[in-house]
Amino acid sequence: MRRSLMAGNWKLYNVTTEECEREAKGIAEAAKDADCEVVLCPPFPFLPIVREAIEGTNVKLGAQGVFWEERGGFTSQVSPLSLKDLGCEYVIIGHSETRGRFGVGSVKEELLSYFSESDETVNLKVLSALKVGLKPIICVGETISERKAGKQDEVVSYQVERALANVGDIEGIVIAYEPVWAIGTGEFCDPNEANRIIGLIRNKARELFGDKADEMRILYGGSVDPGNIKSFMEKEEIDGALVGRASAKAESFGKIIKYR
Ligand code: PEP
Repeated sequence: MRRSLMAGNWKLYNVTTEECEREAKGIAEAAKDADCEVVLCPPFPFLPIVREAIEGTNVKLGAQGVFWEERGGFTSQVSPLSLKDLGCEYVIIGHSETRGRFGVGSVKEELLSYFSESDETVNLKVLSALKVGLKPIICVGETISERKAGKQDEVVSYQVERALANVGDIEGIVIAYEPVWAIGTGEFCDPNEANRIIGLIRNKARELFGDKADEMRILYGGSVDPGNIKSFMEKEEIDGALVGRASAKAESFGKIIKYR
């Protein structure tokens, strides 16, 4: 039986100590009697603040990204060892925004590939996270042009296979199906379609890891809010949600956590 998981990707929505502390405490309060696992991924500088705010509660800490090397001359990067040391249990890897595809359309075309994370670097990060005992939340999903061309199944399946290359054991790994066109746009994926793609991801994982794939949690992400969460959670294959904008405020994330 897979335990559902609600992970909040705060991106750059809460950006001060006061905001992070307040919202984390509010979310921990809401999570008190929730029957799902709850994870908060604040911006890097606020990991210690959020860690303190959720201490003794059942909310867990995650980071929004990680570098694949543990130490060295890599200005601005964050080591998996540092995340572990700061109390993170989870780390988001391969988010479409760090793959260089801001979904919102507010970023200039020439800046779209600024982060330029590739299937190869996603895989390196997954391996380095696993090495130190961090649980990766691996994001996969097609762009709007890939969907229009009918290539979504192929794209998602390829991303999963590449992200999991050389992984020995998938224990602890979480995958999030996040169609790029649904992220931050308010235009969420049809729950039946999300369920179908997530089933396809599980089949791919089964091909690679056998029955172990049945224990792996696969989330949906893309404009999840208190009004639509139930329609996703009712689907057989969907084990939870990776939530961006609506996770930044305790008021909305609290409702998502307690969607029943
Ligand atoms: C995300 O950042 O992973 C995400 C799904 O964002 P939003 O919920 O804002 O669409």
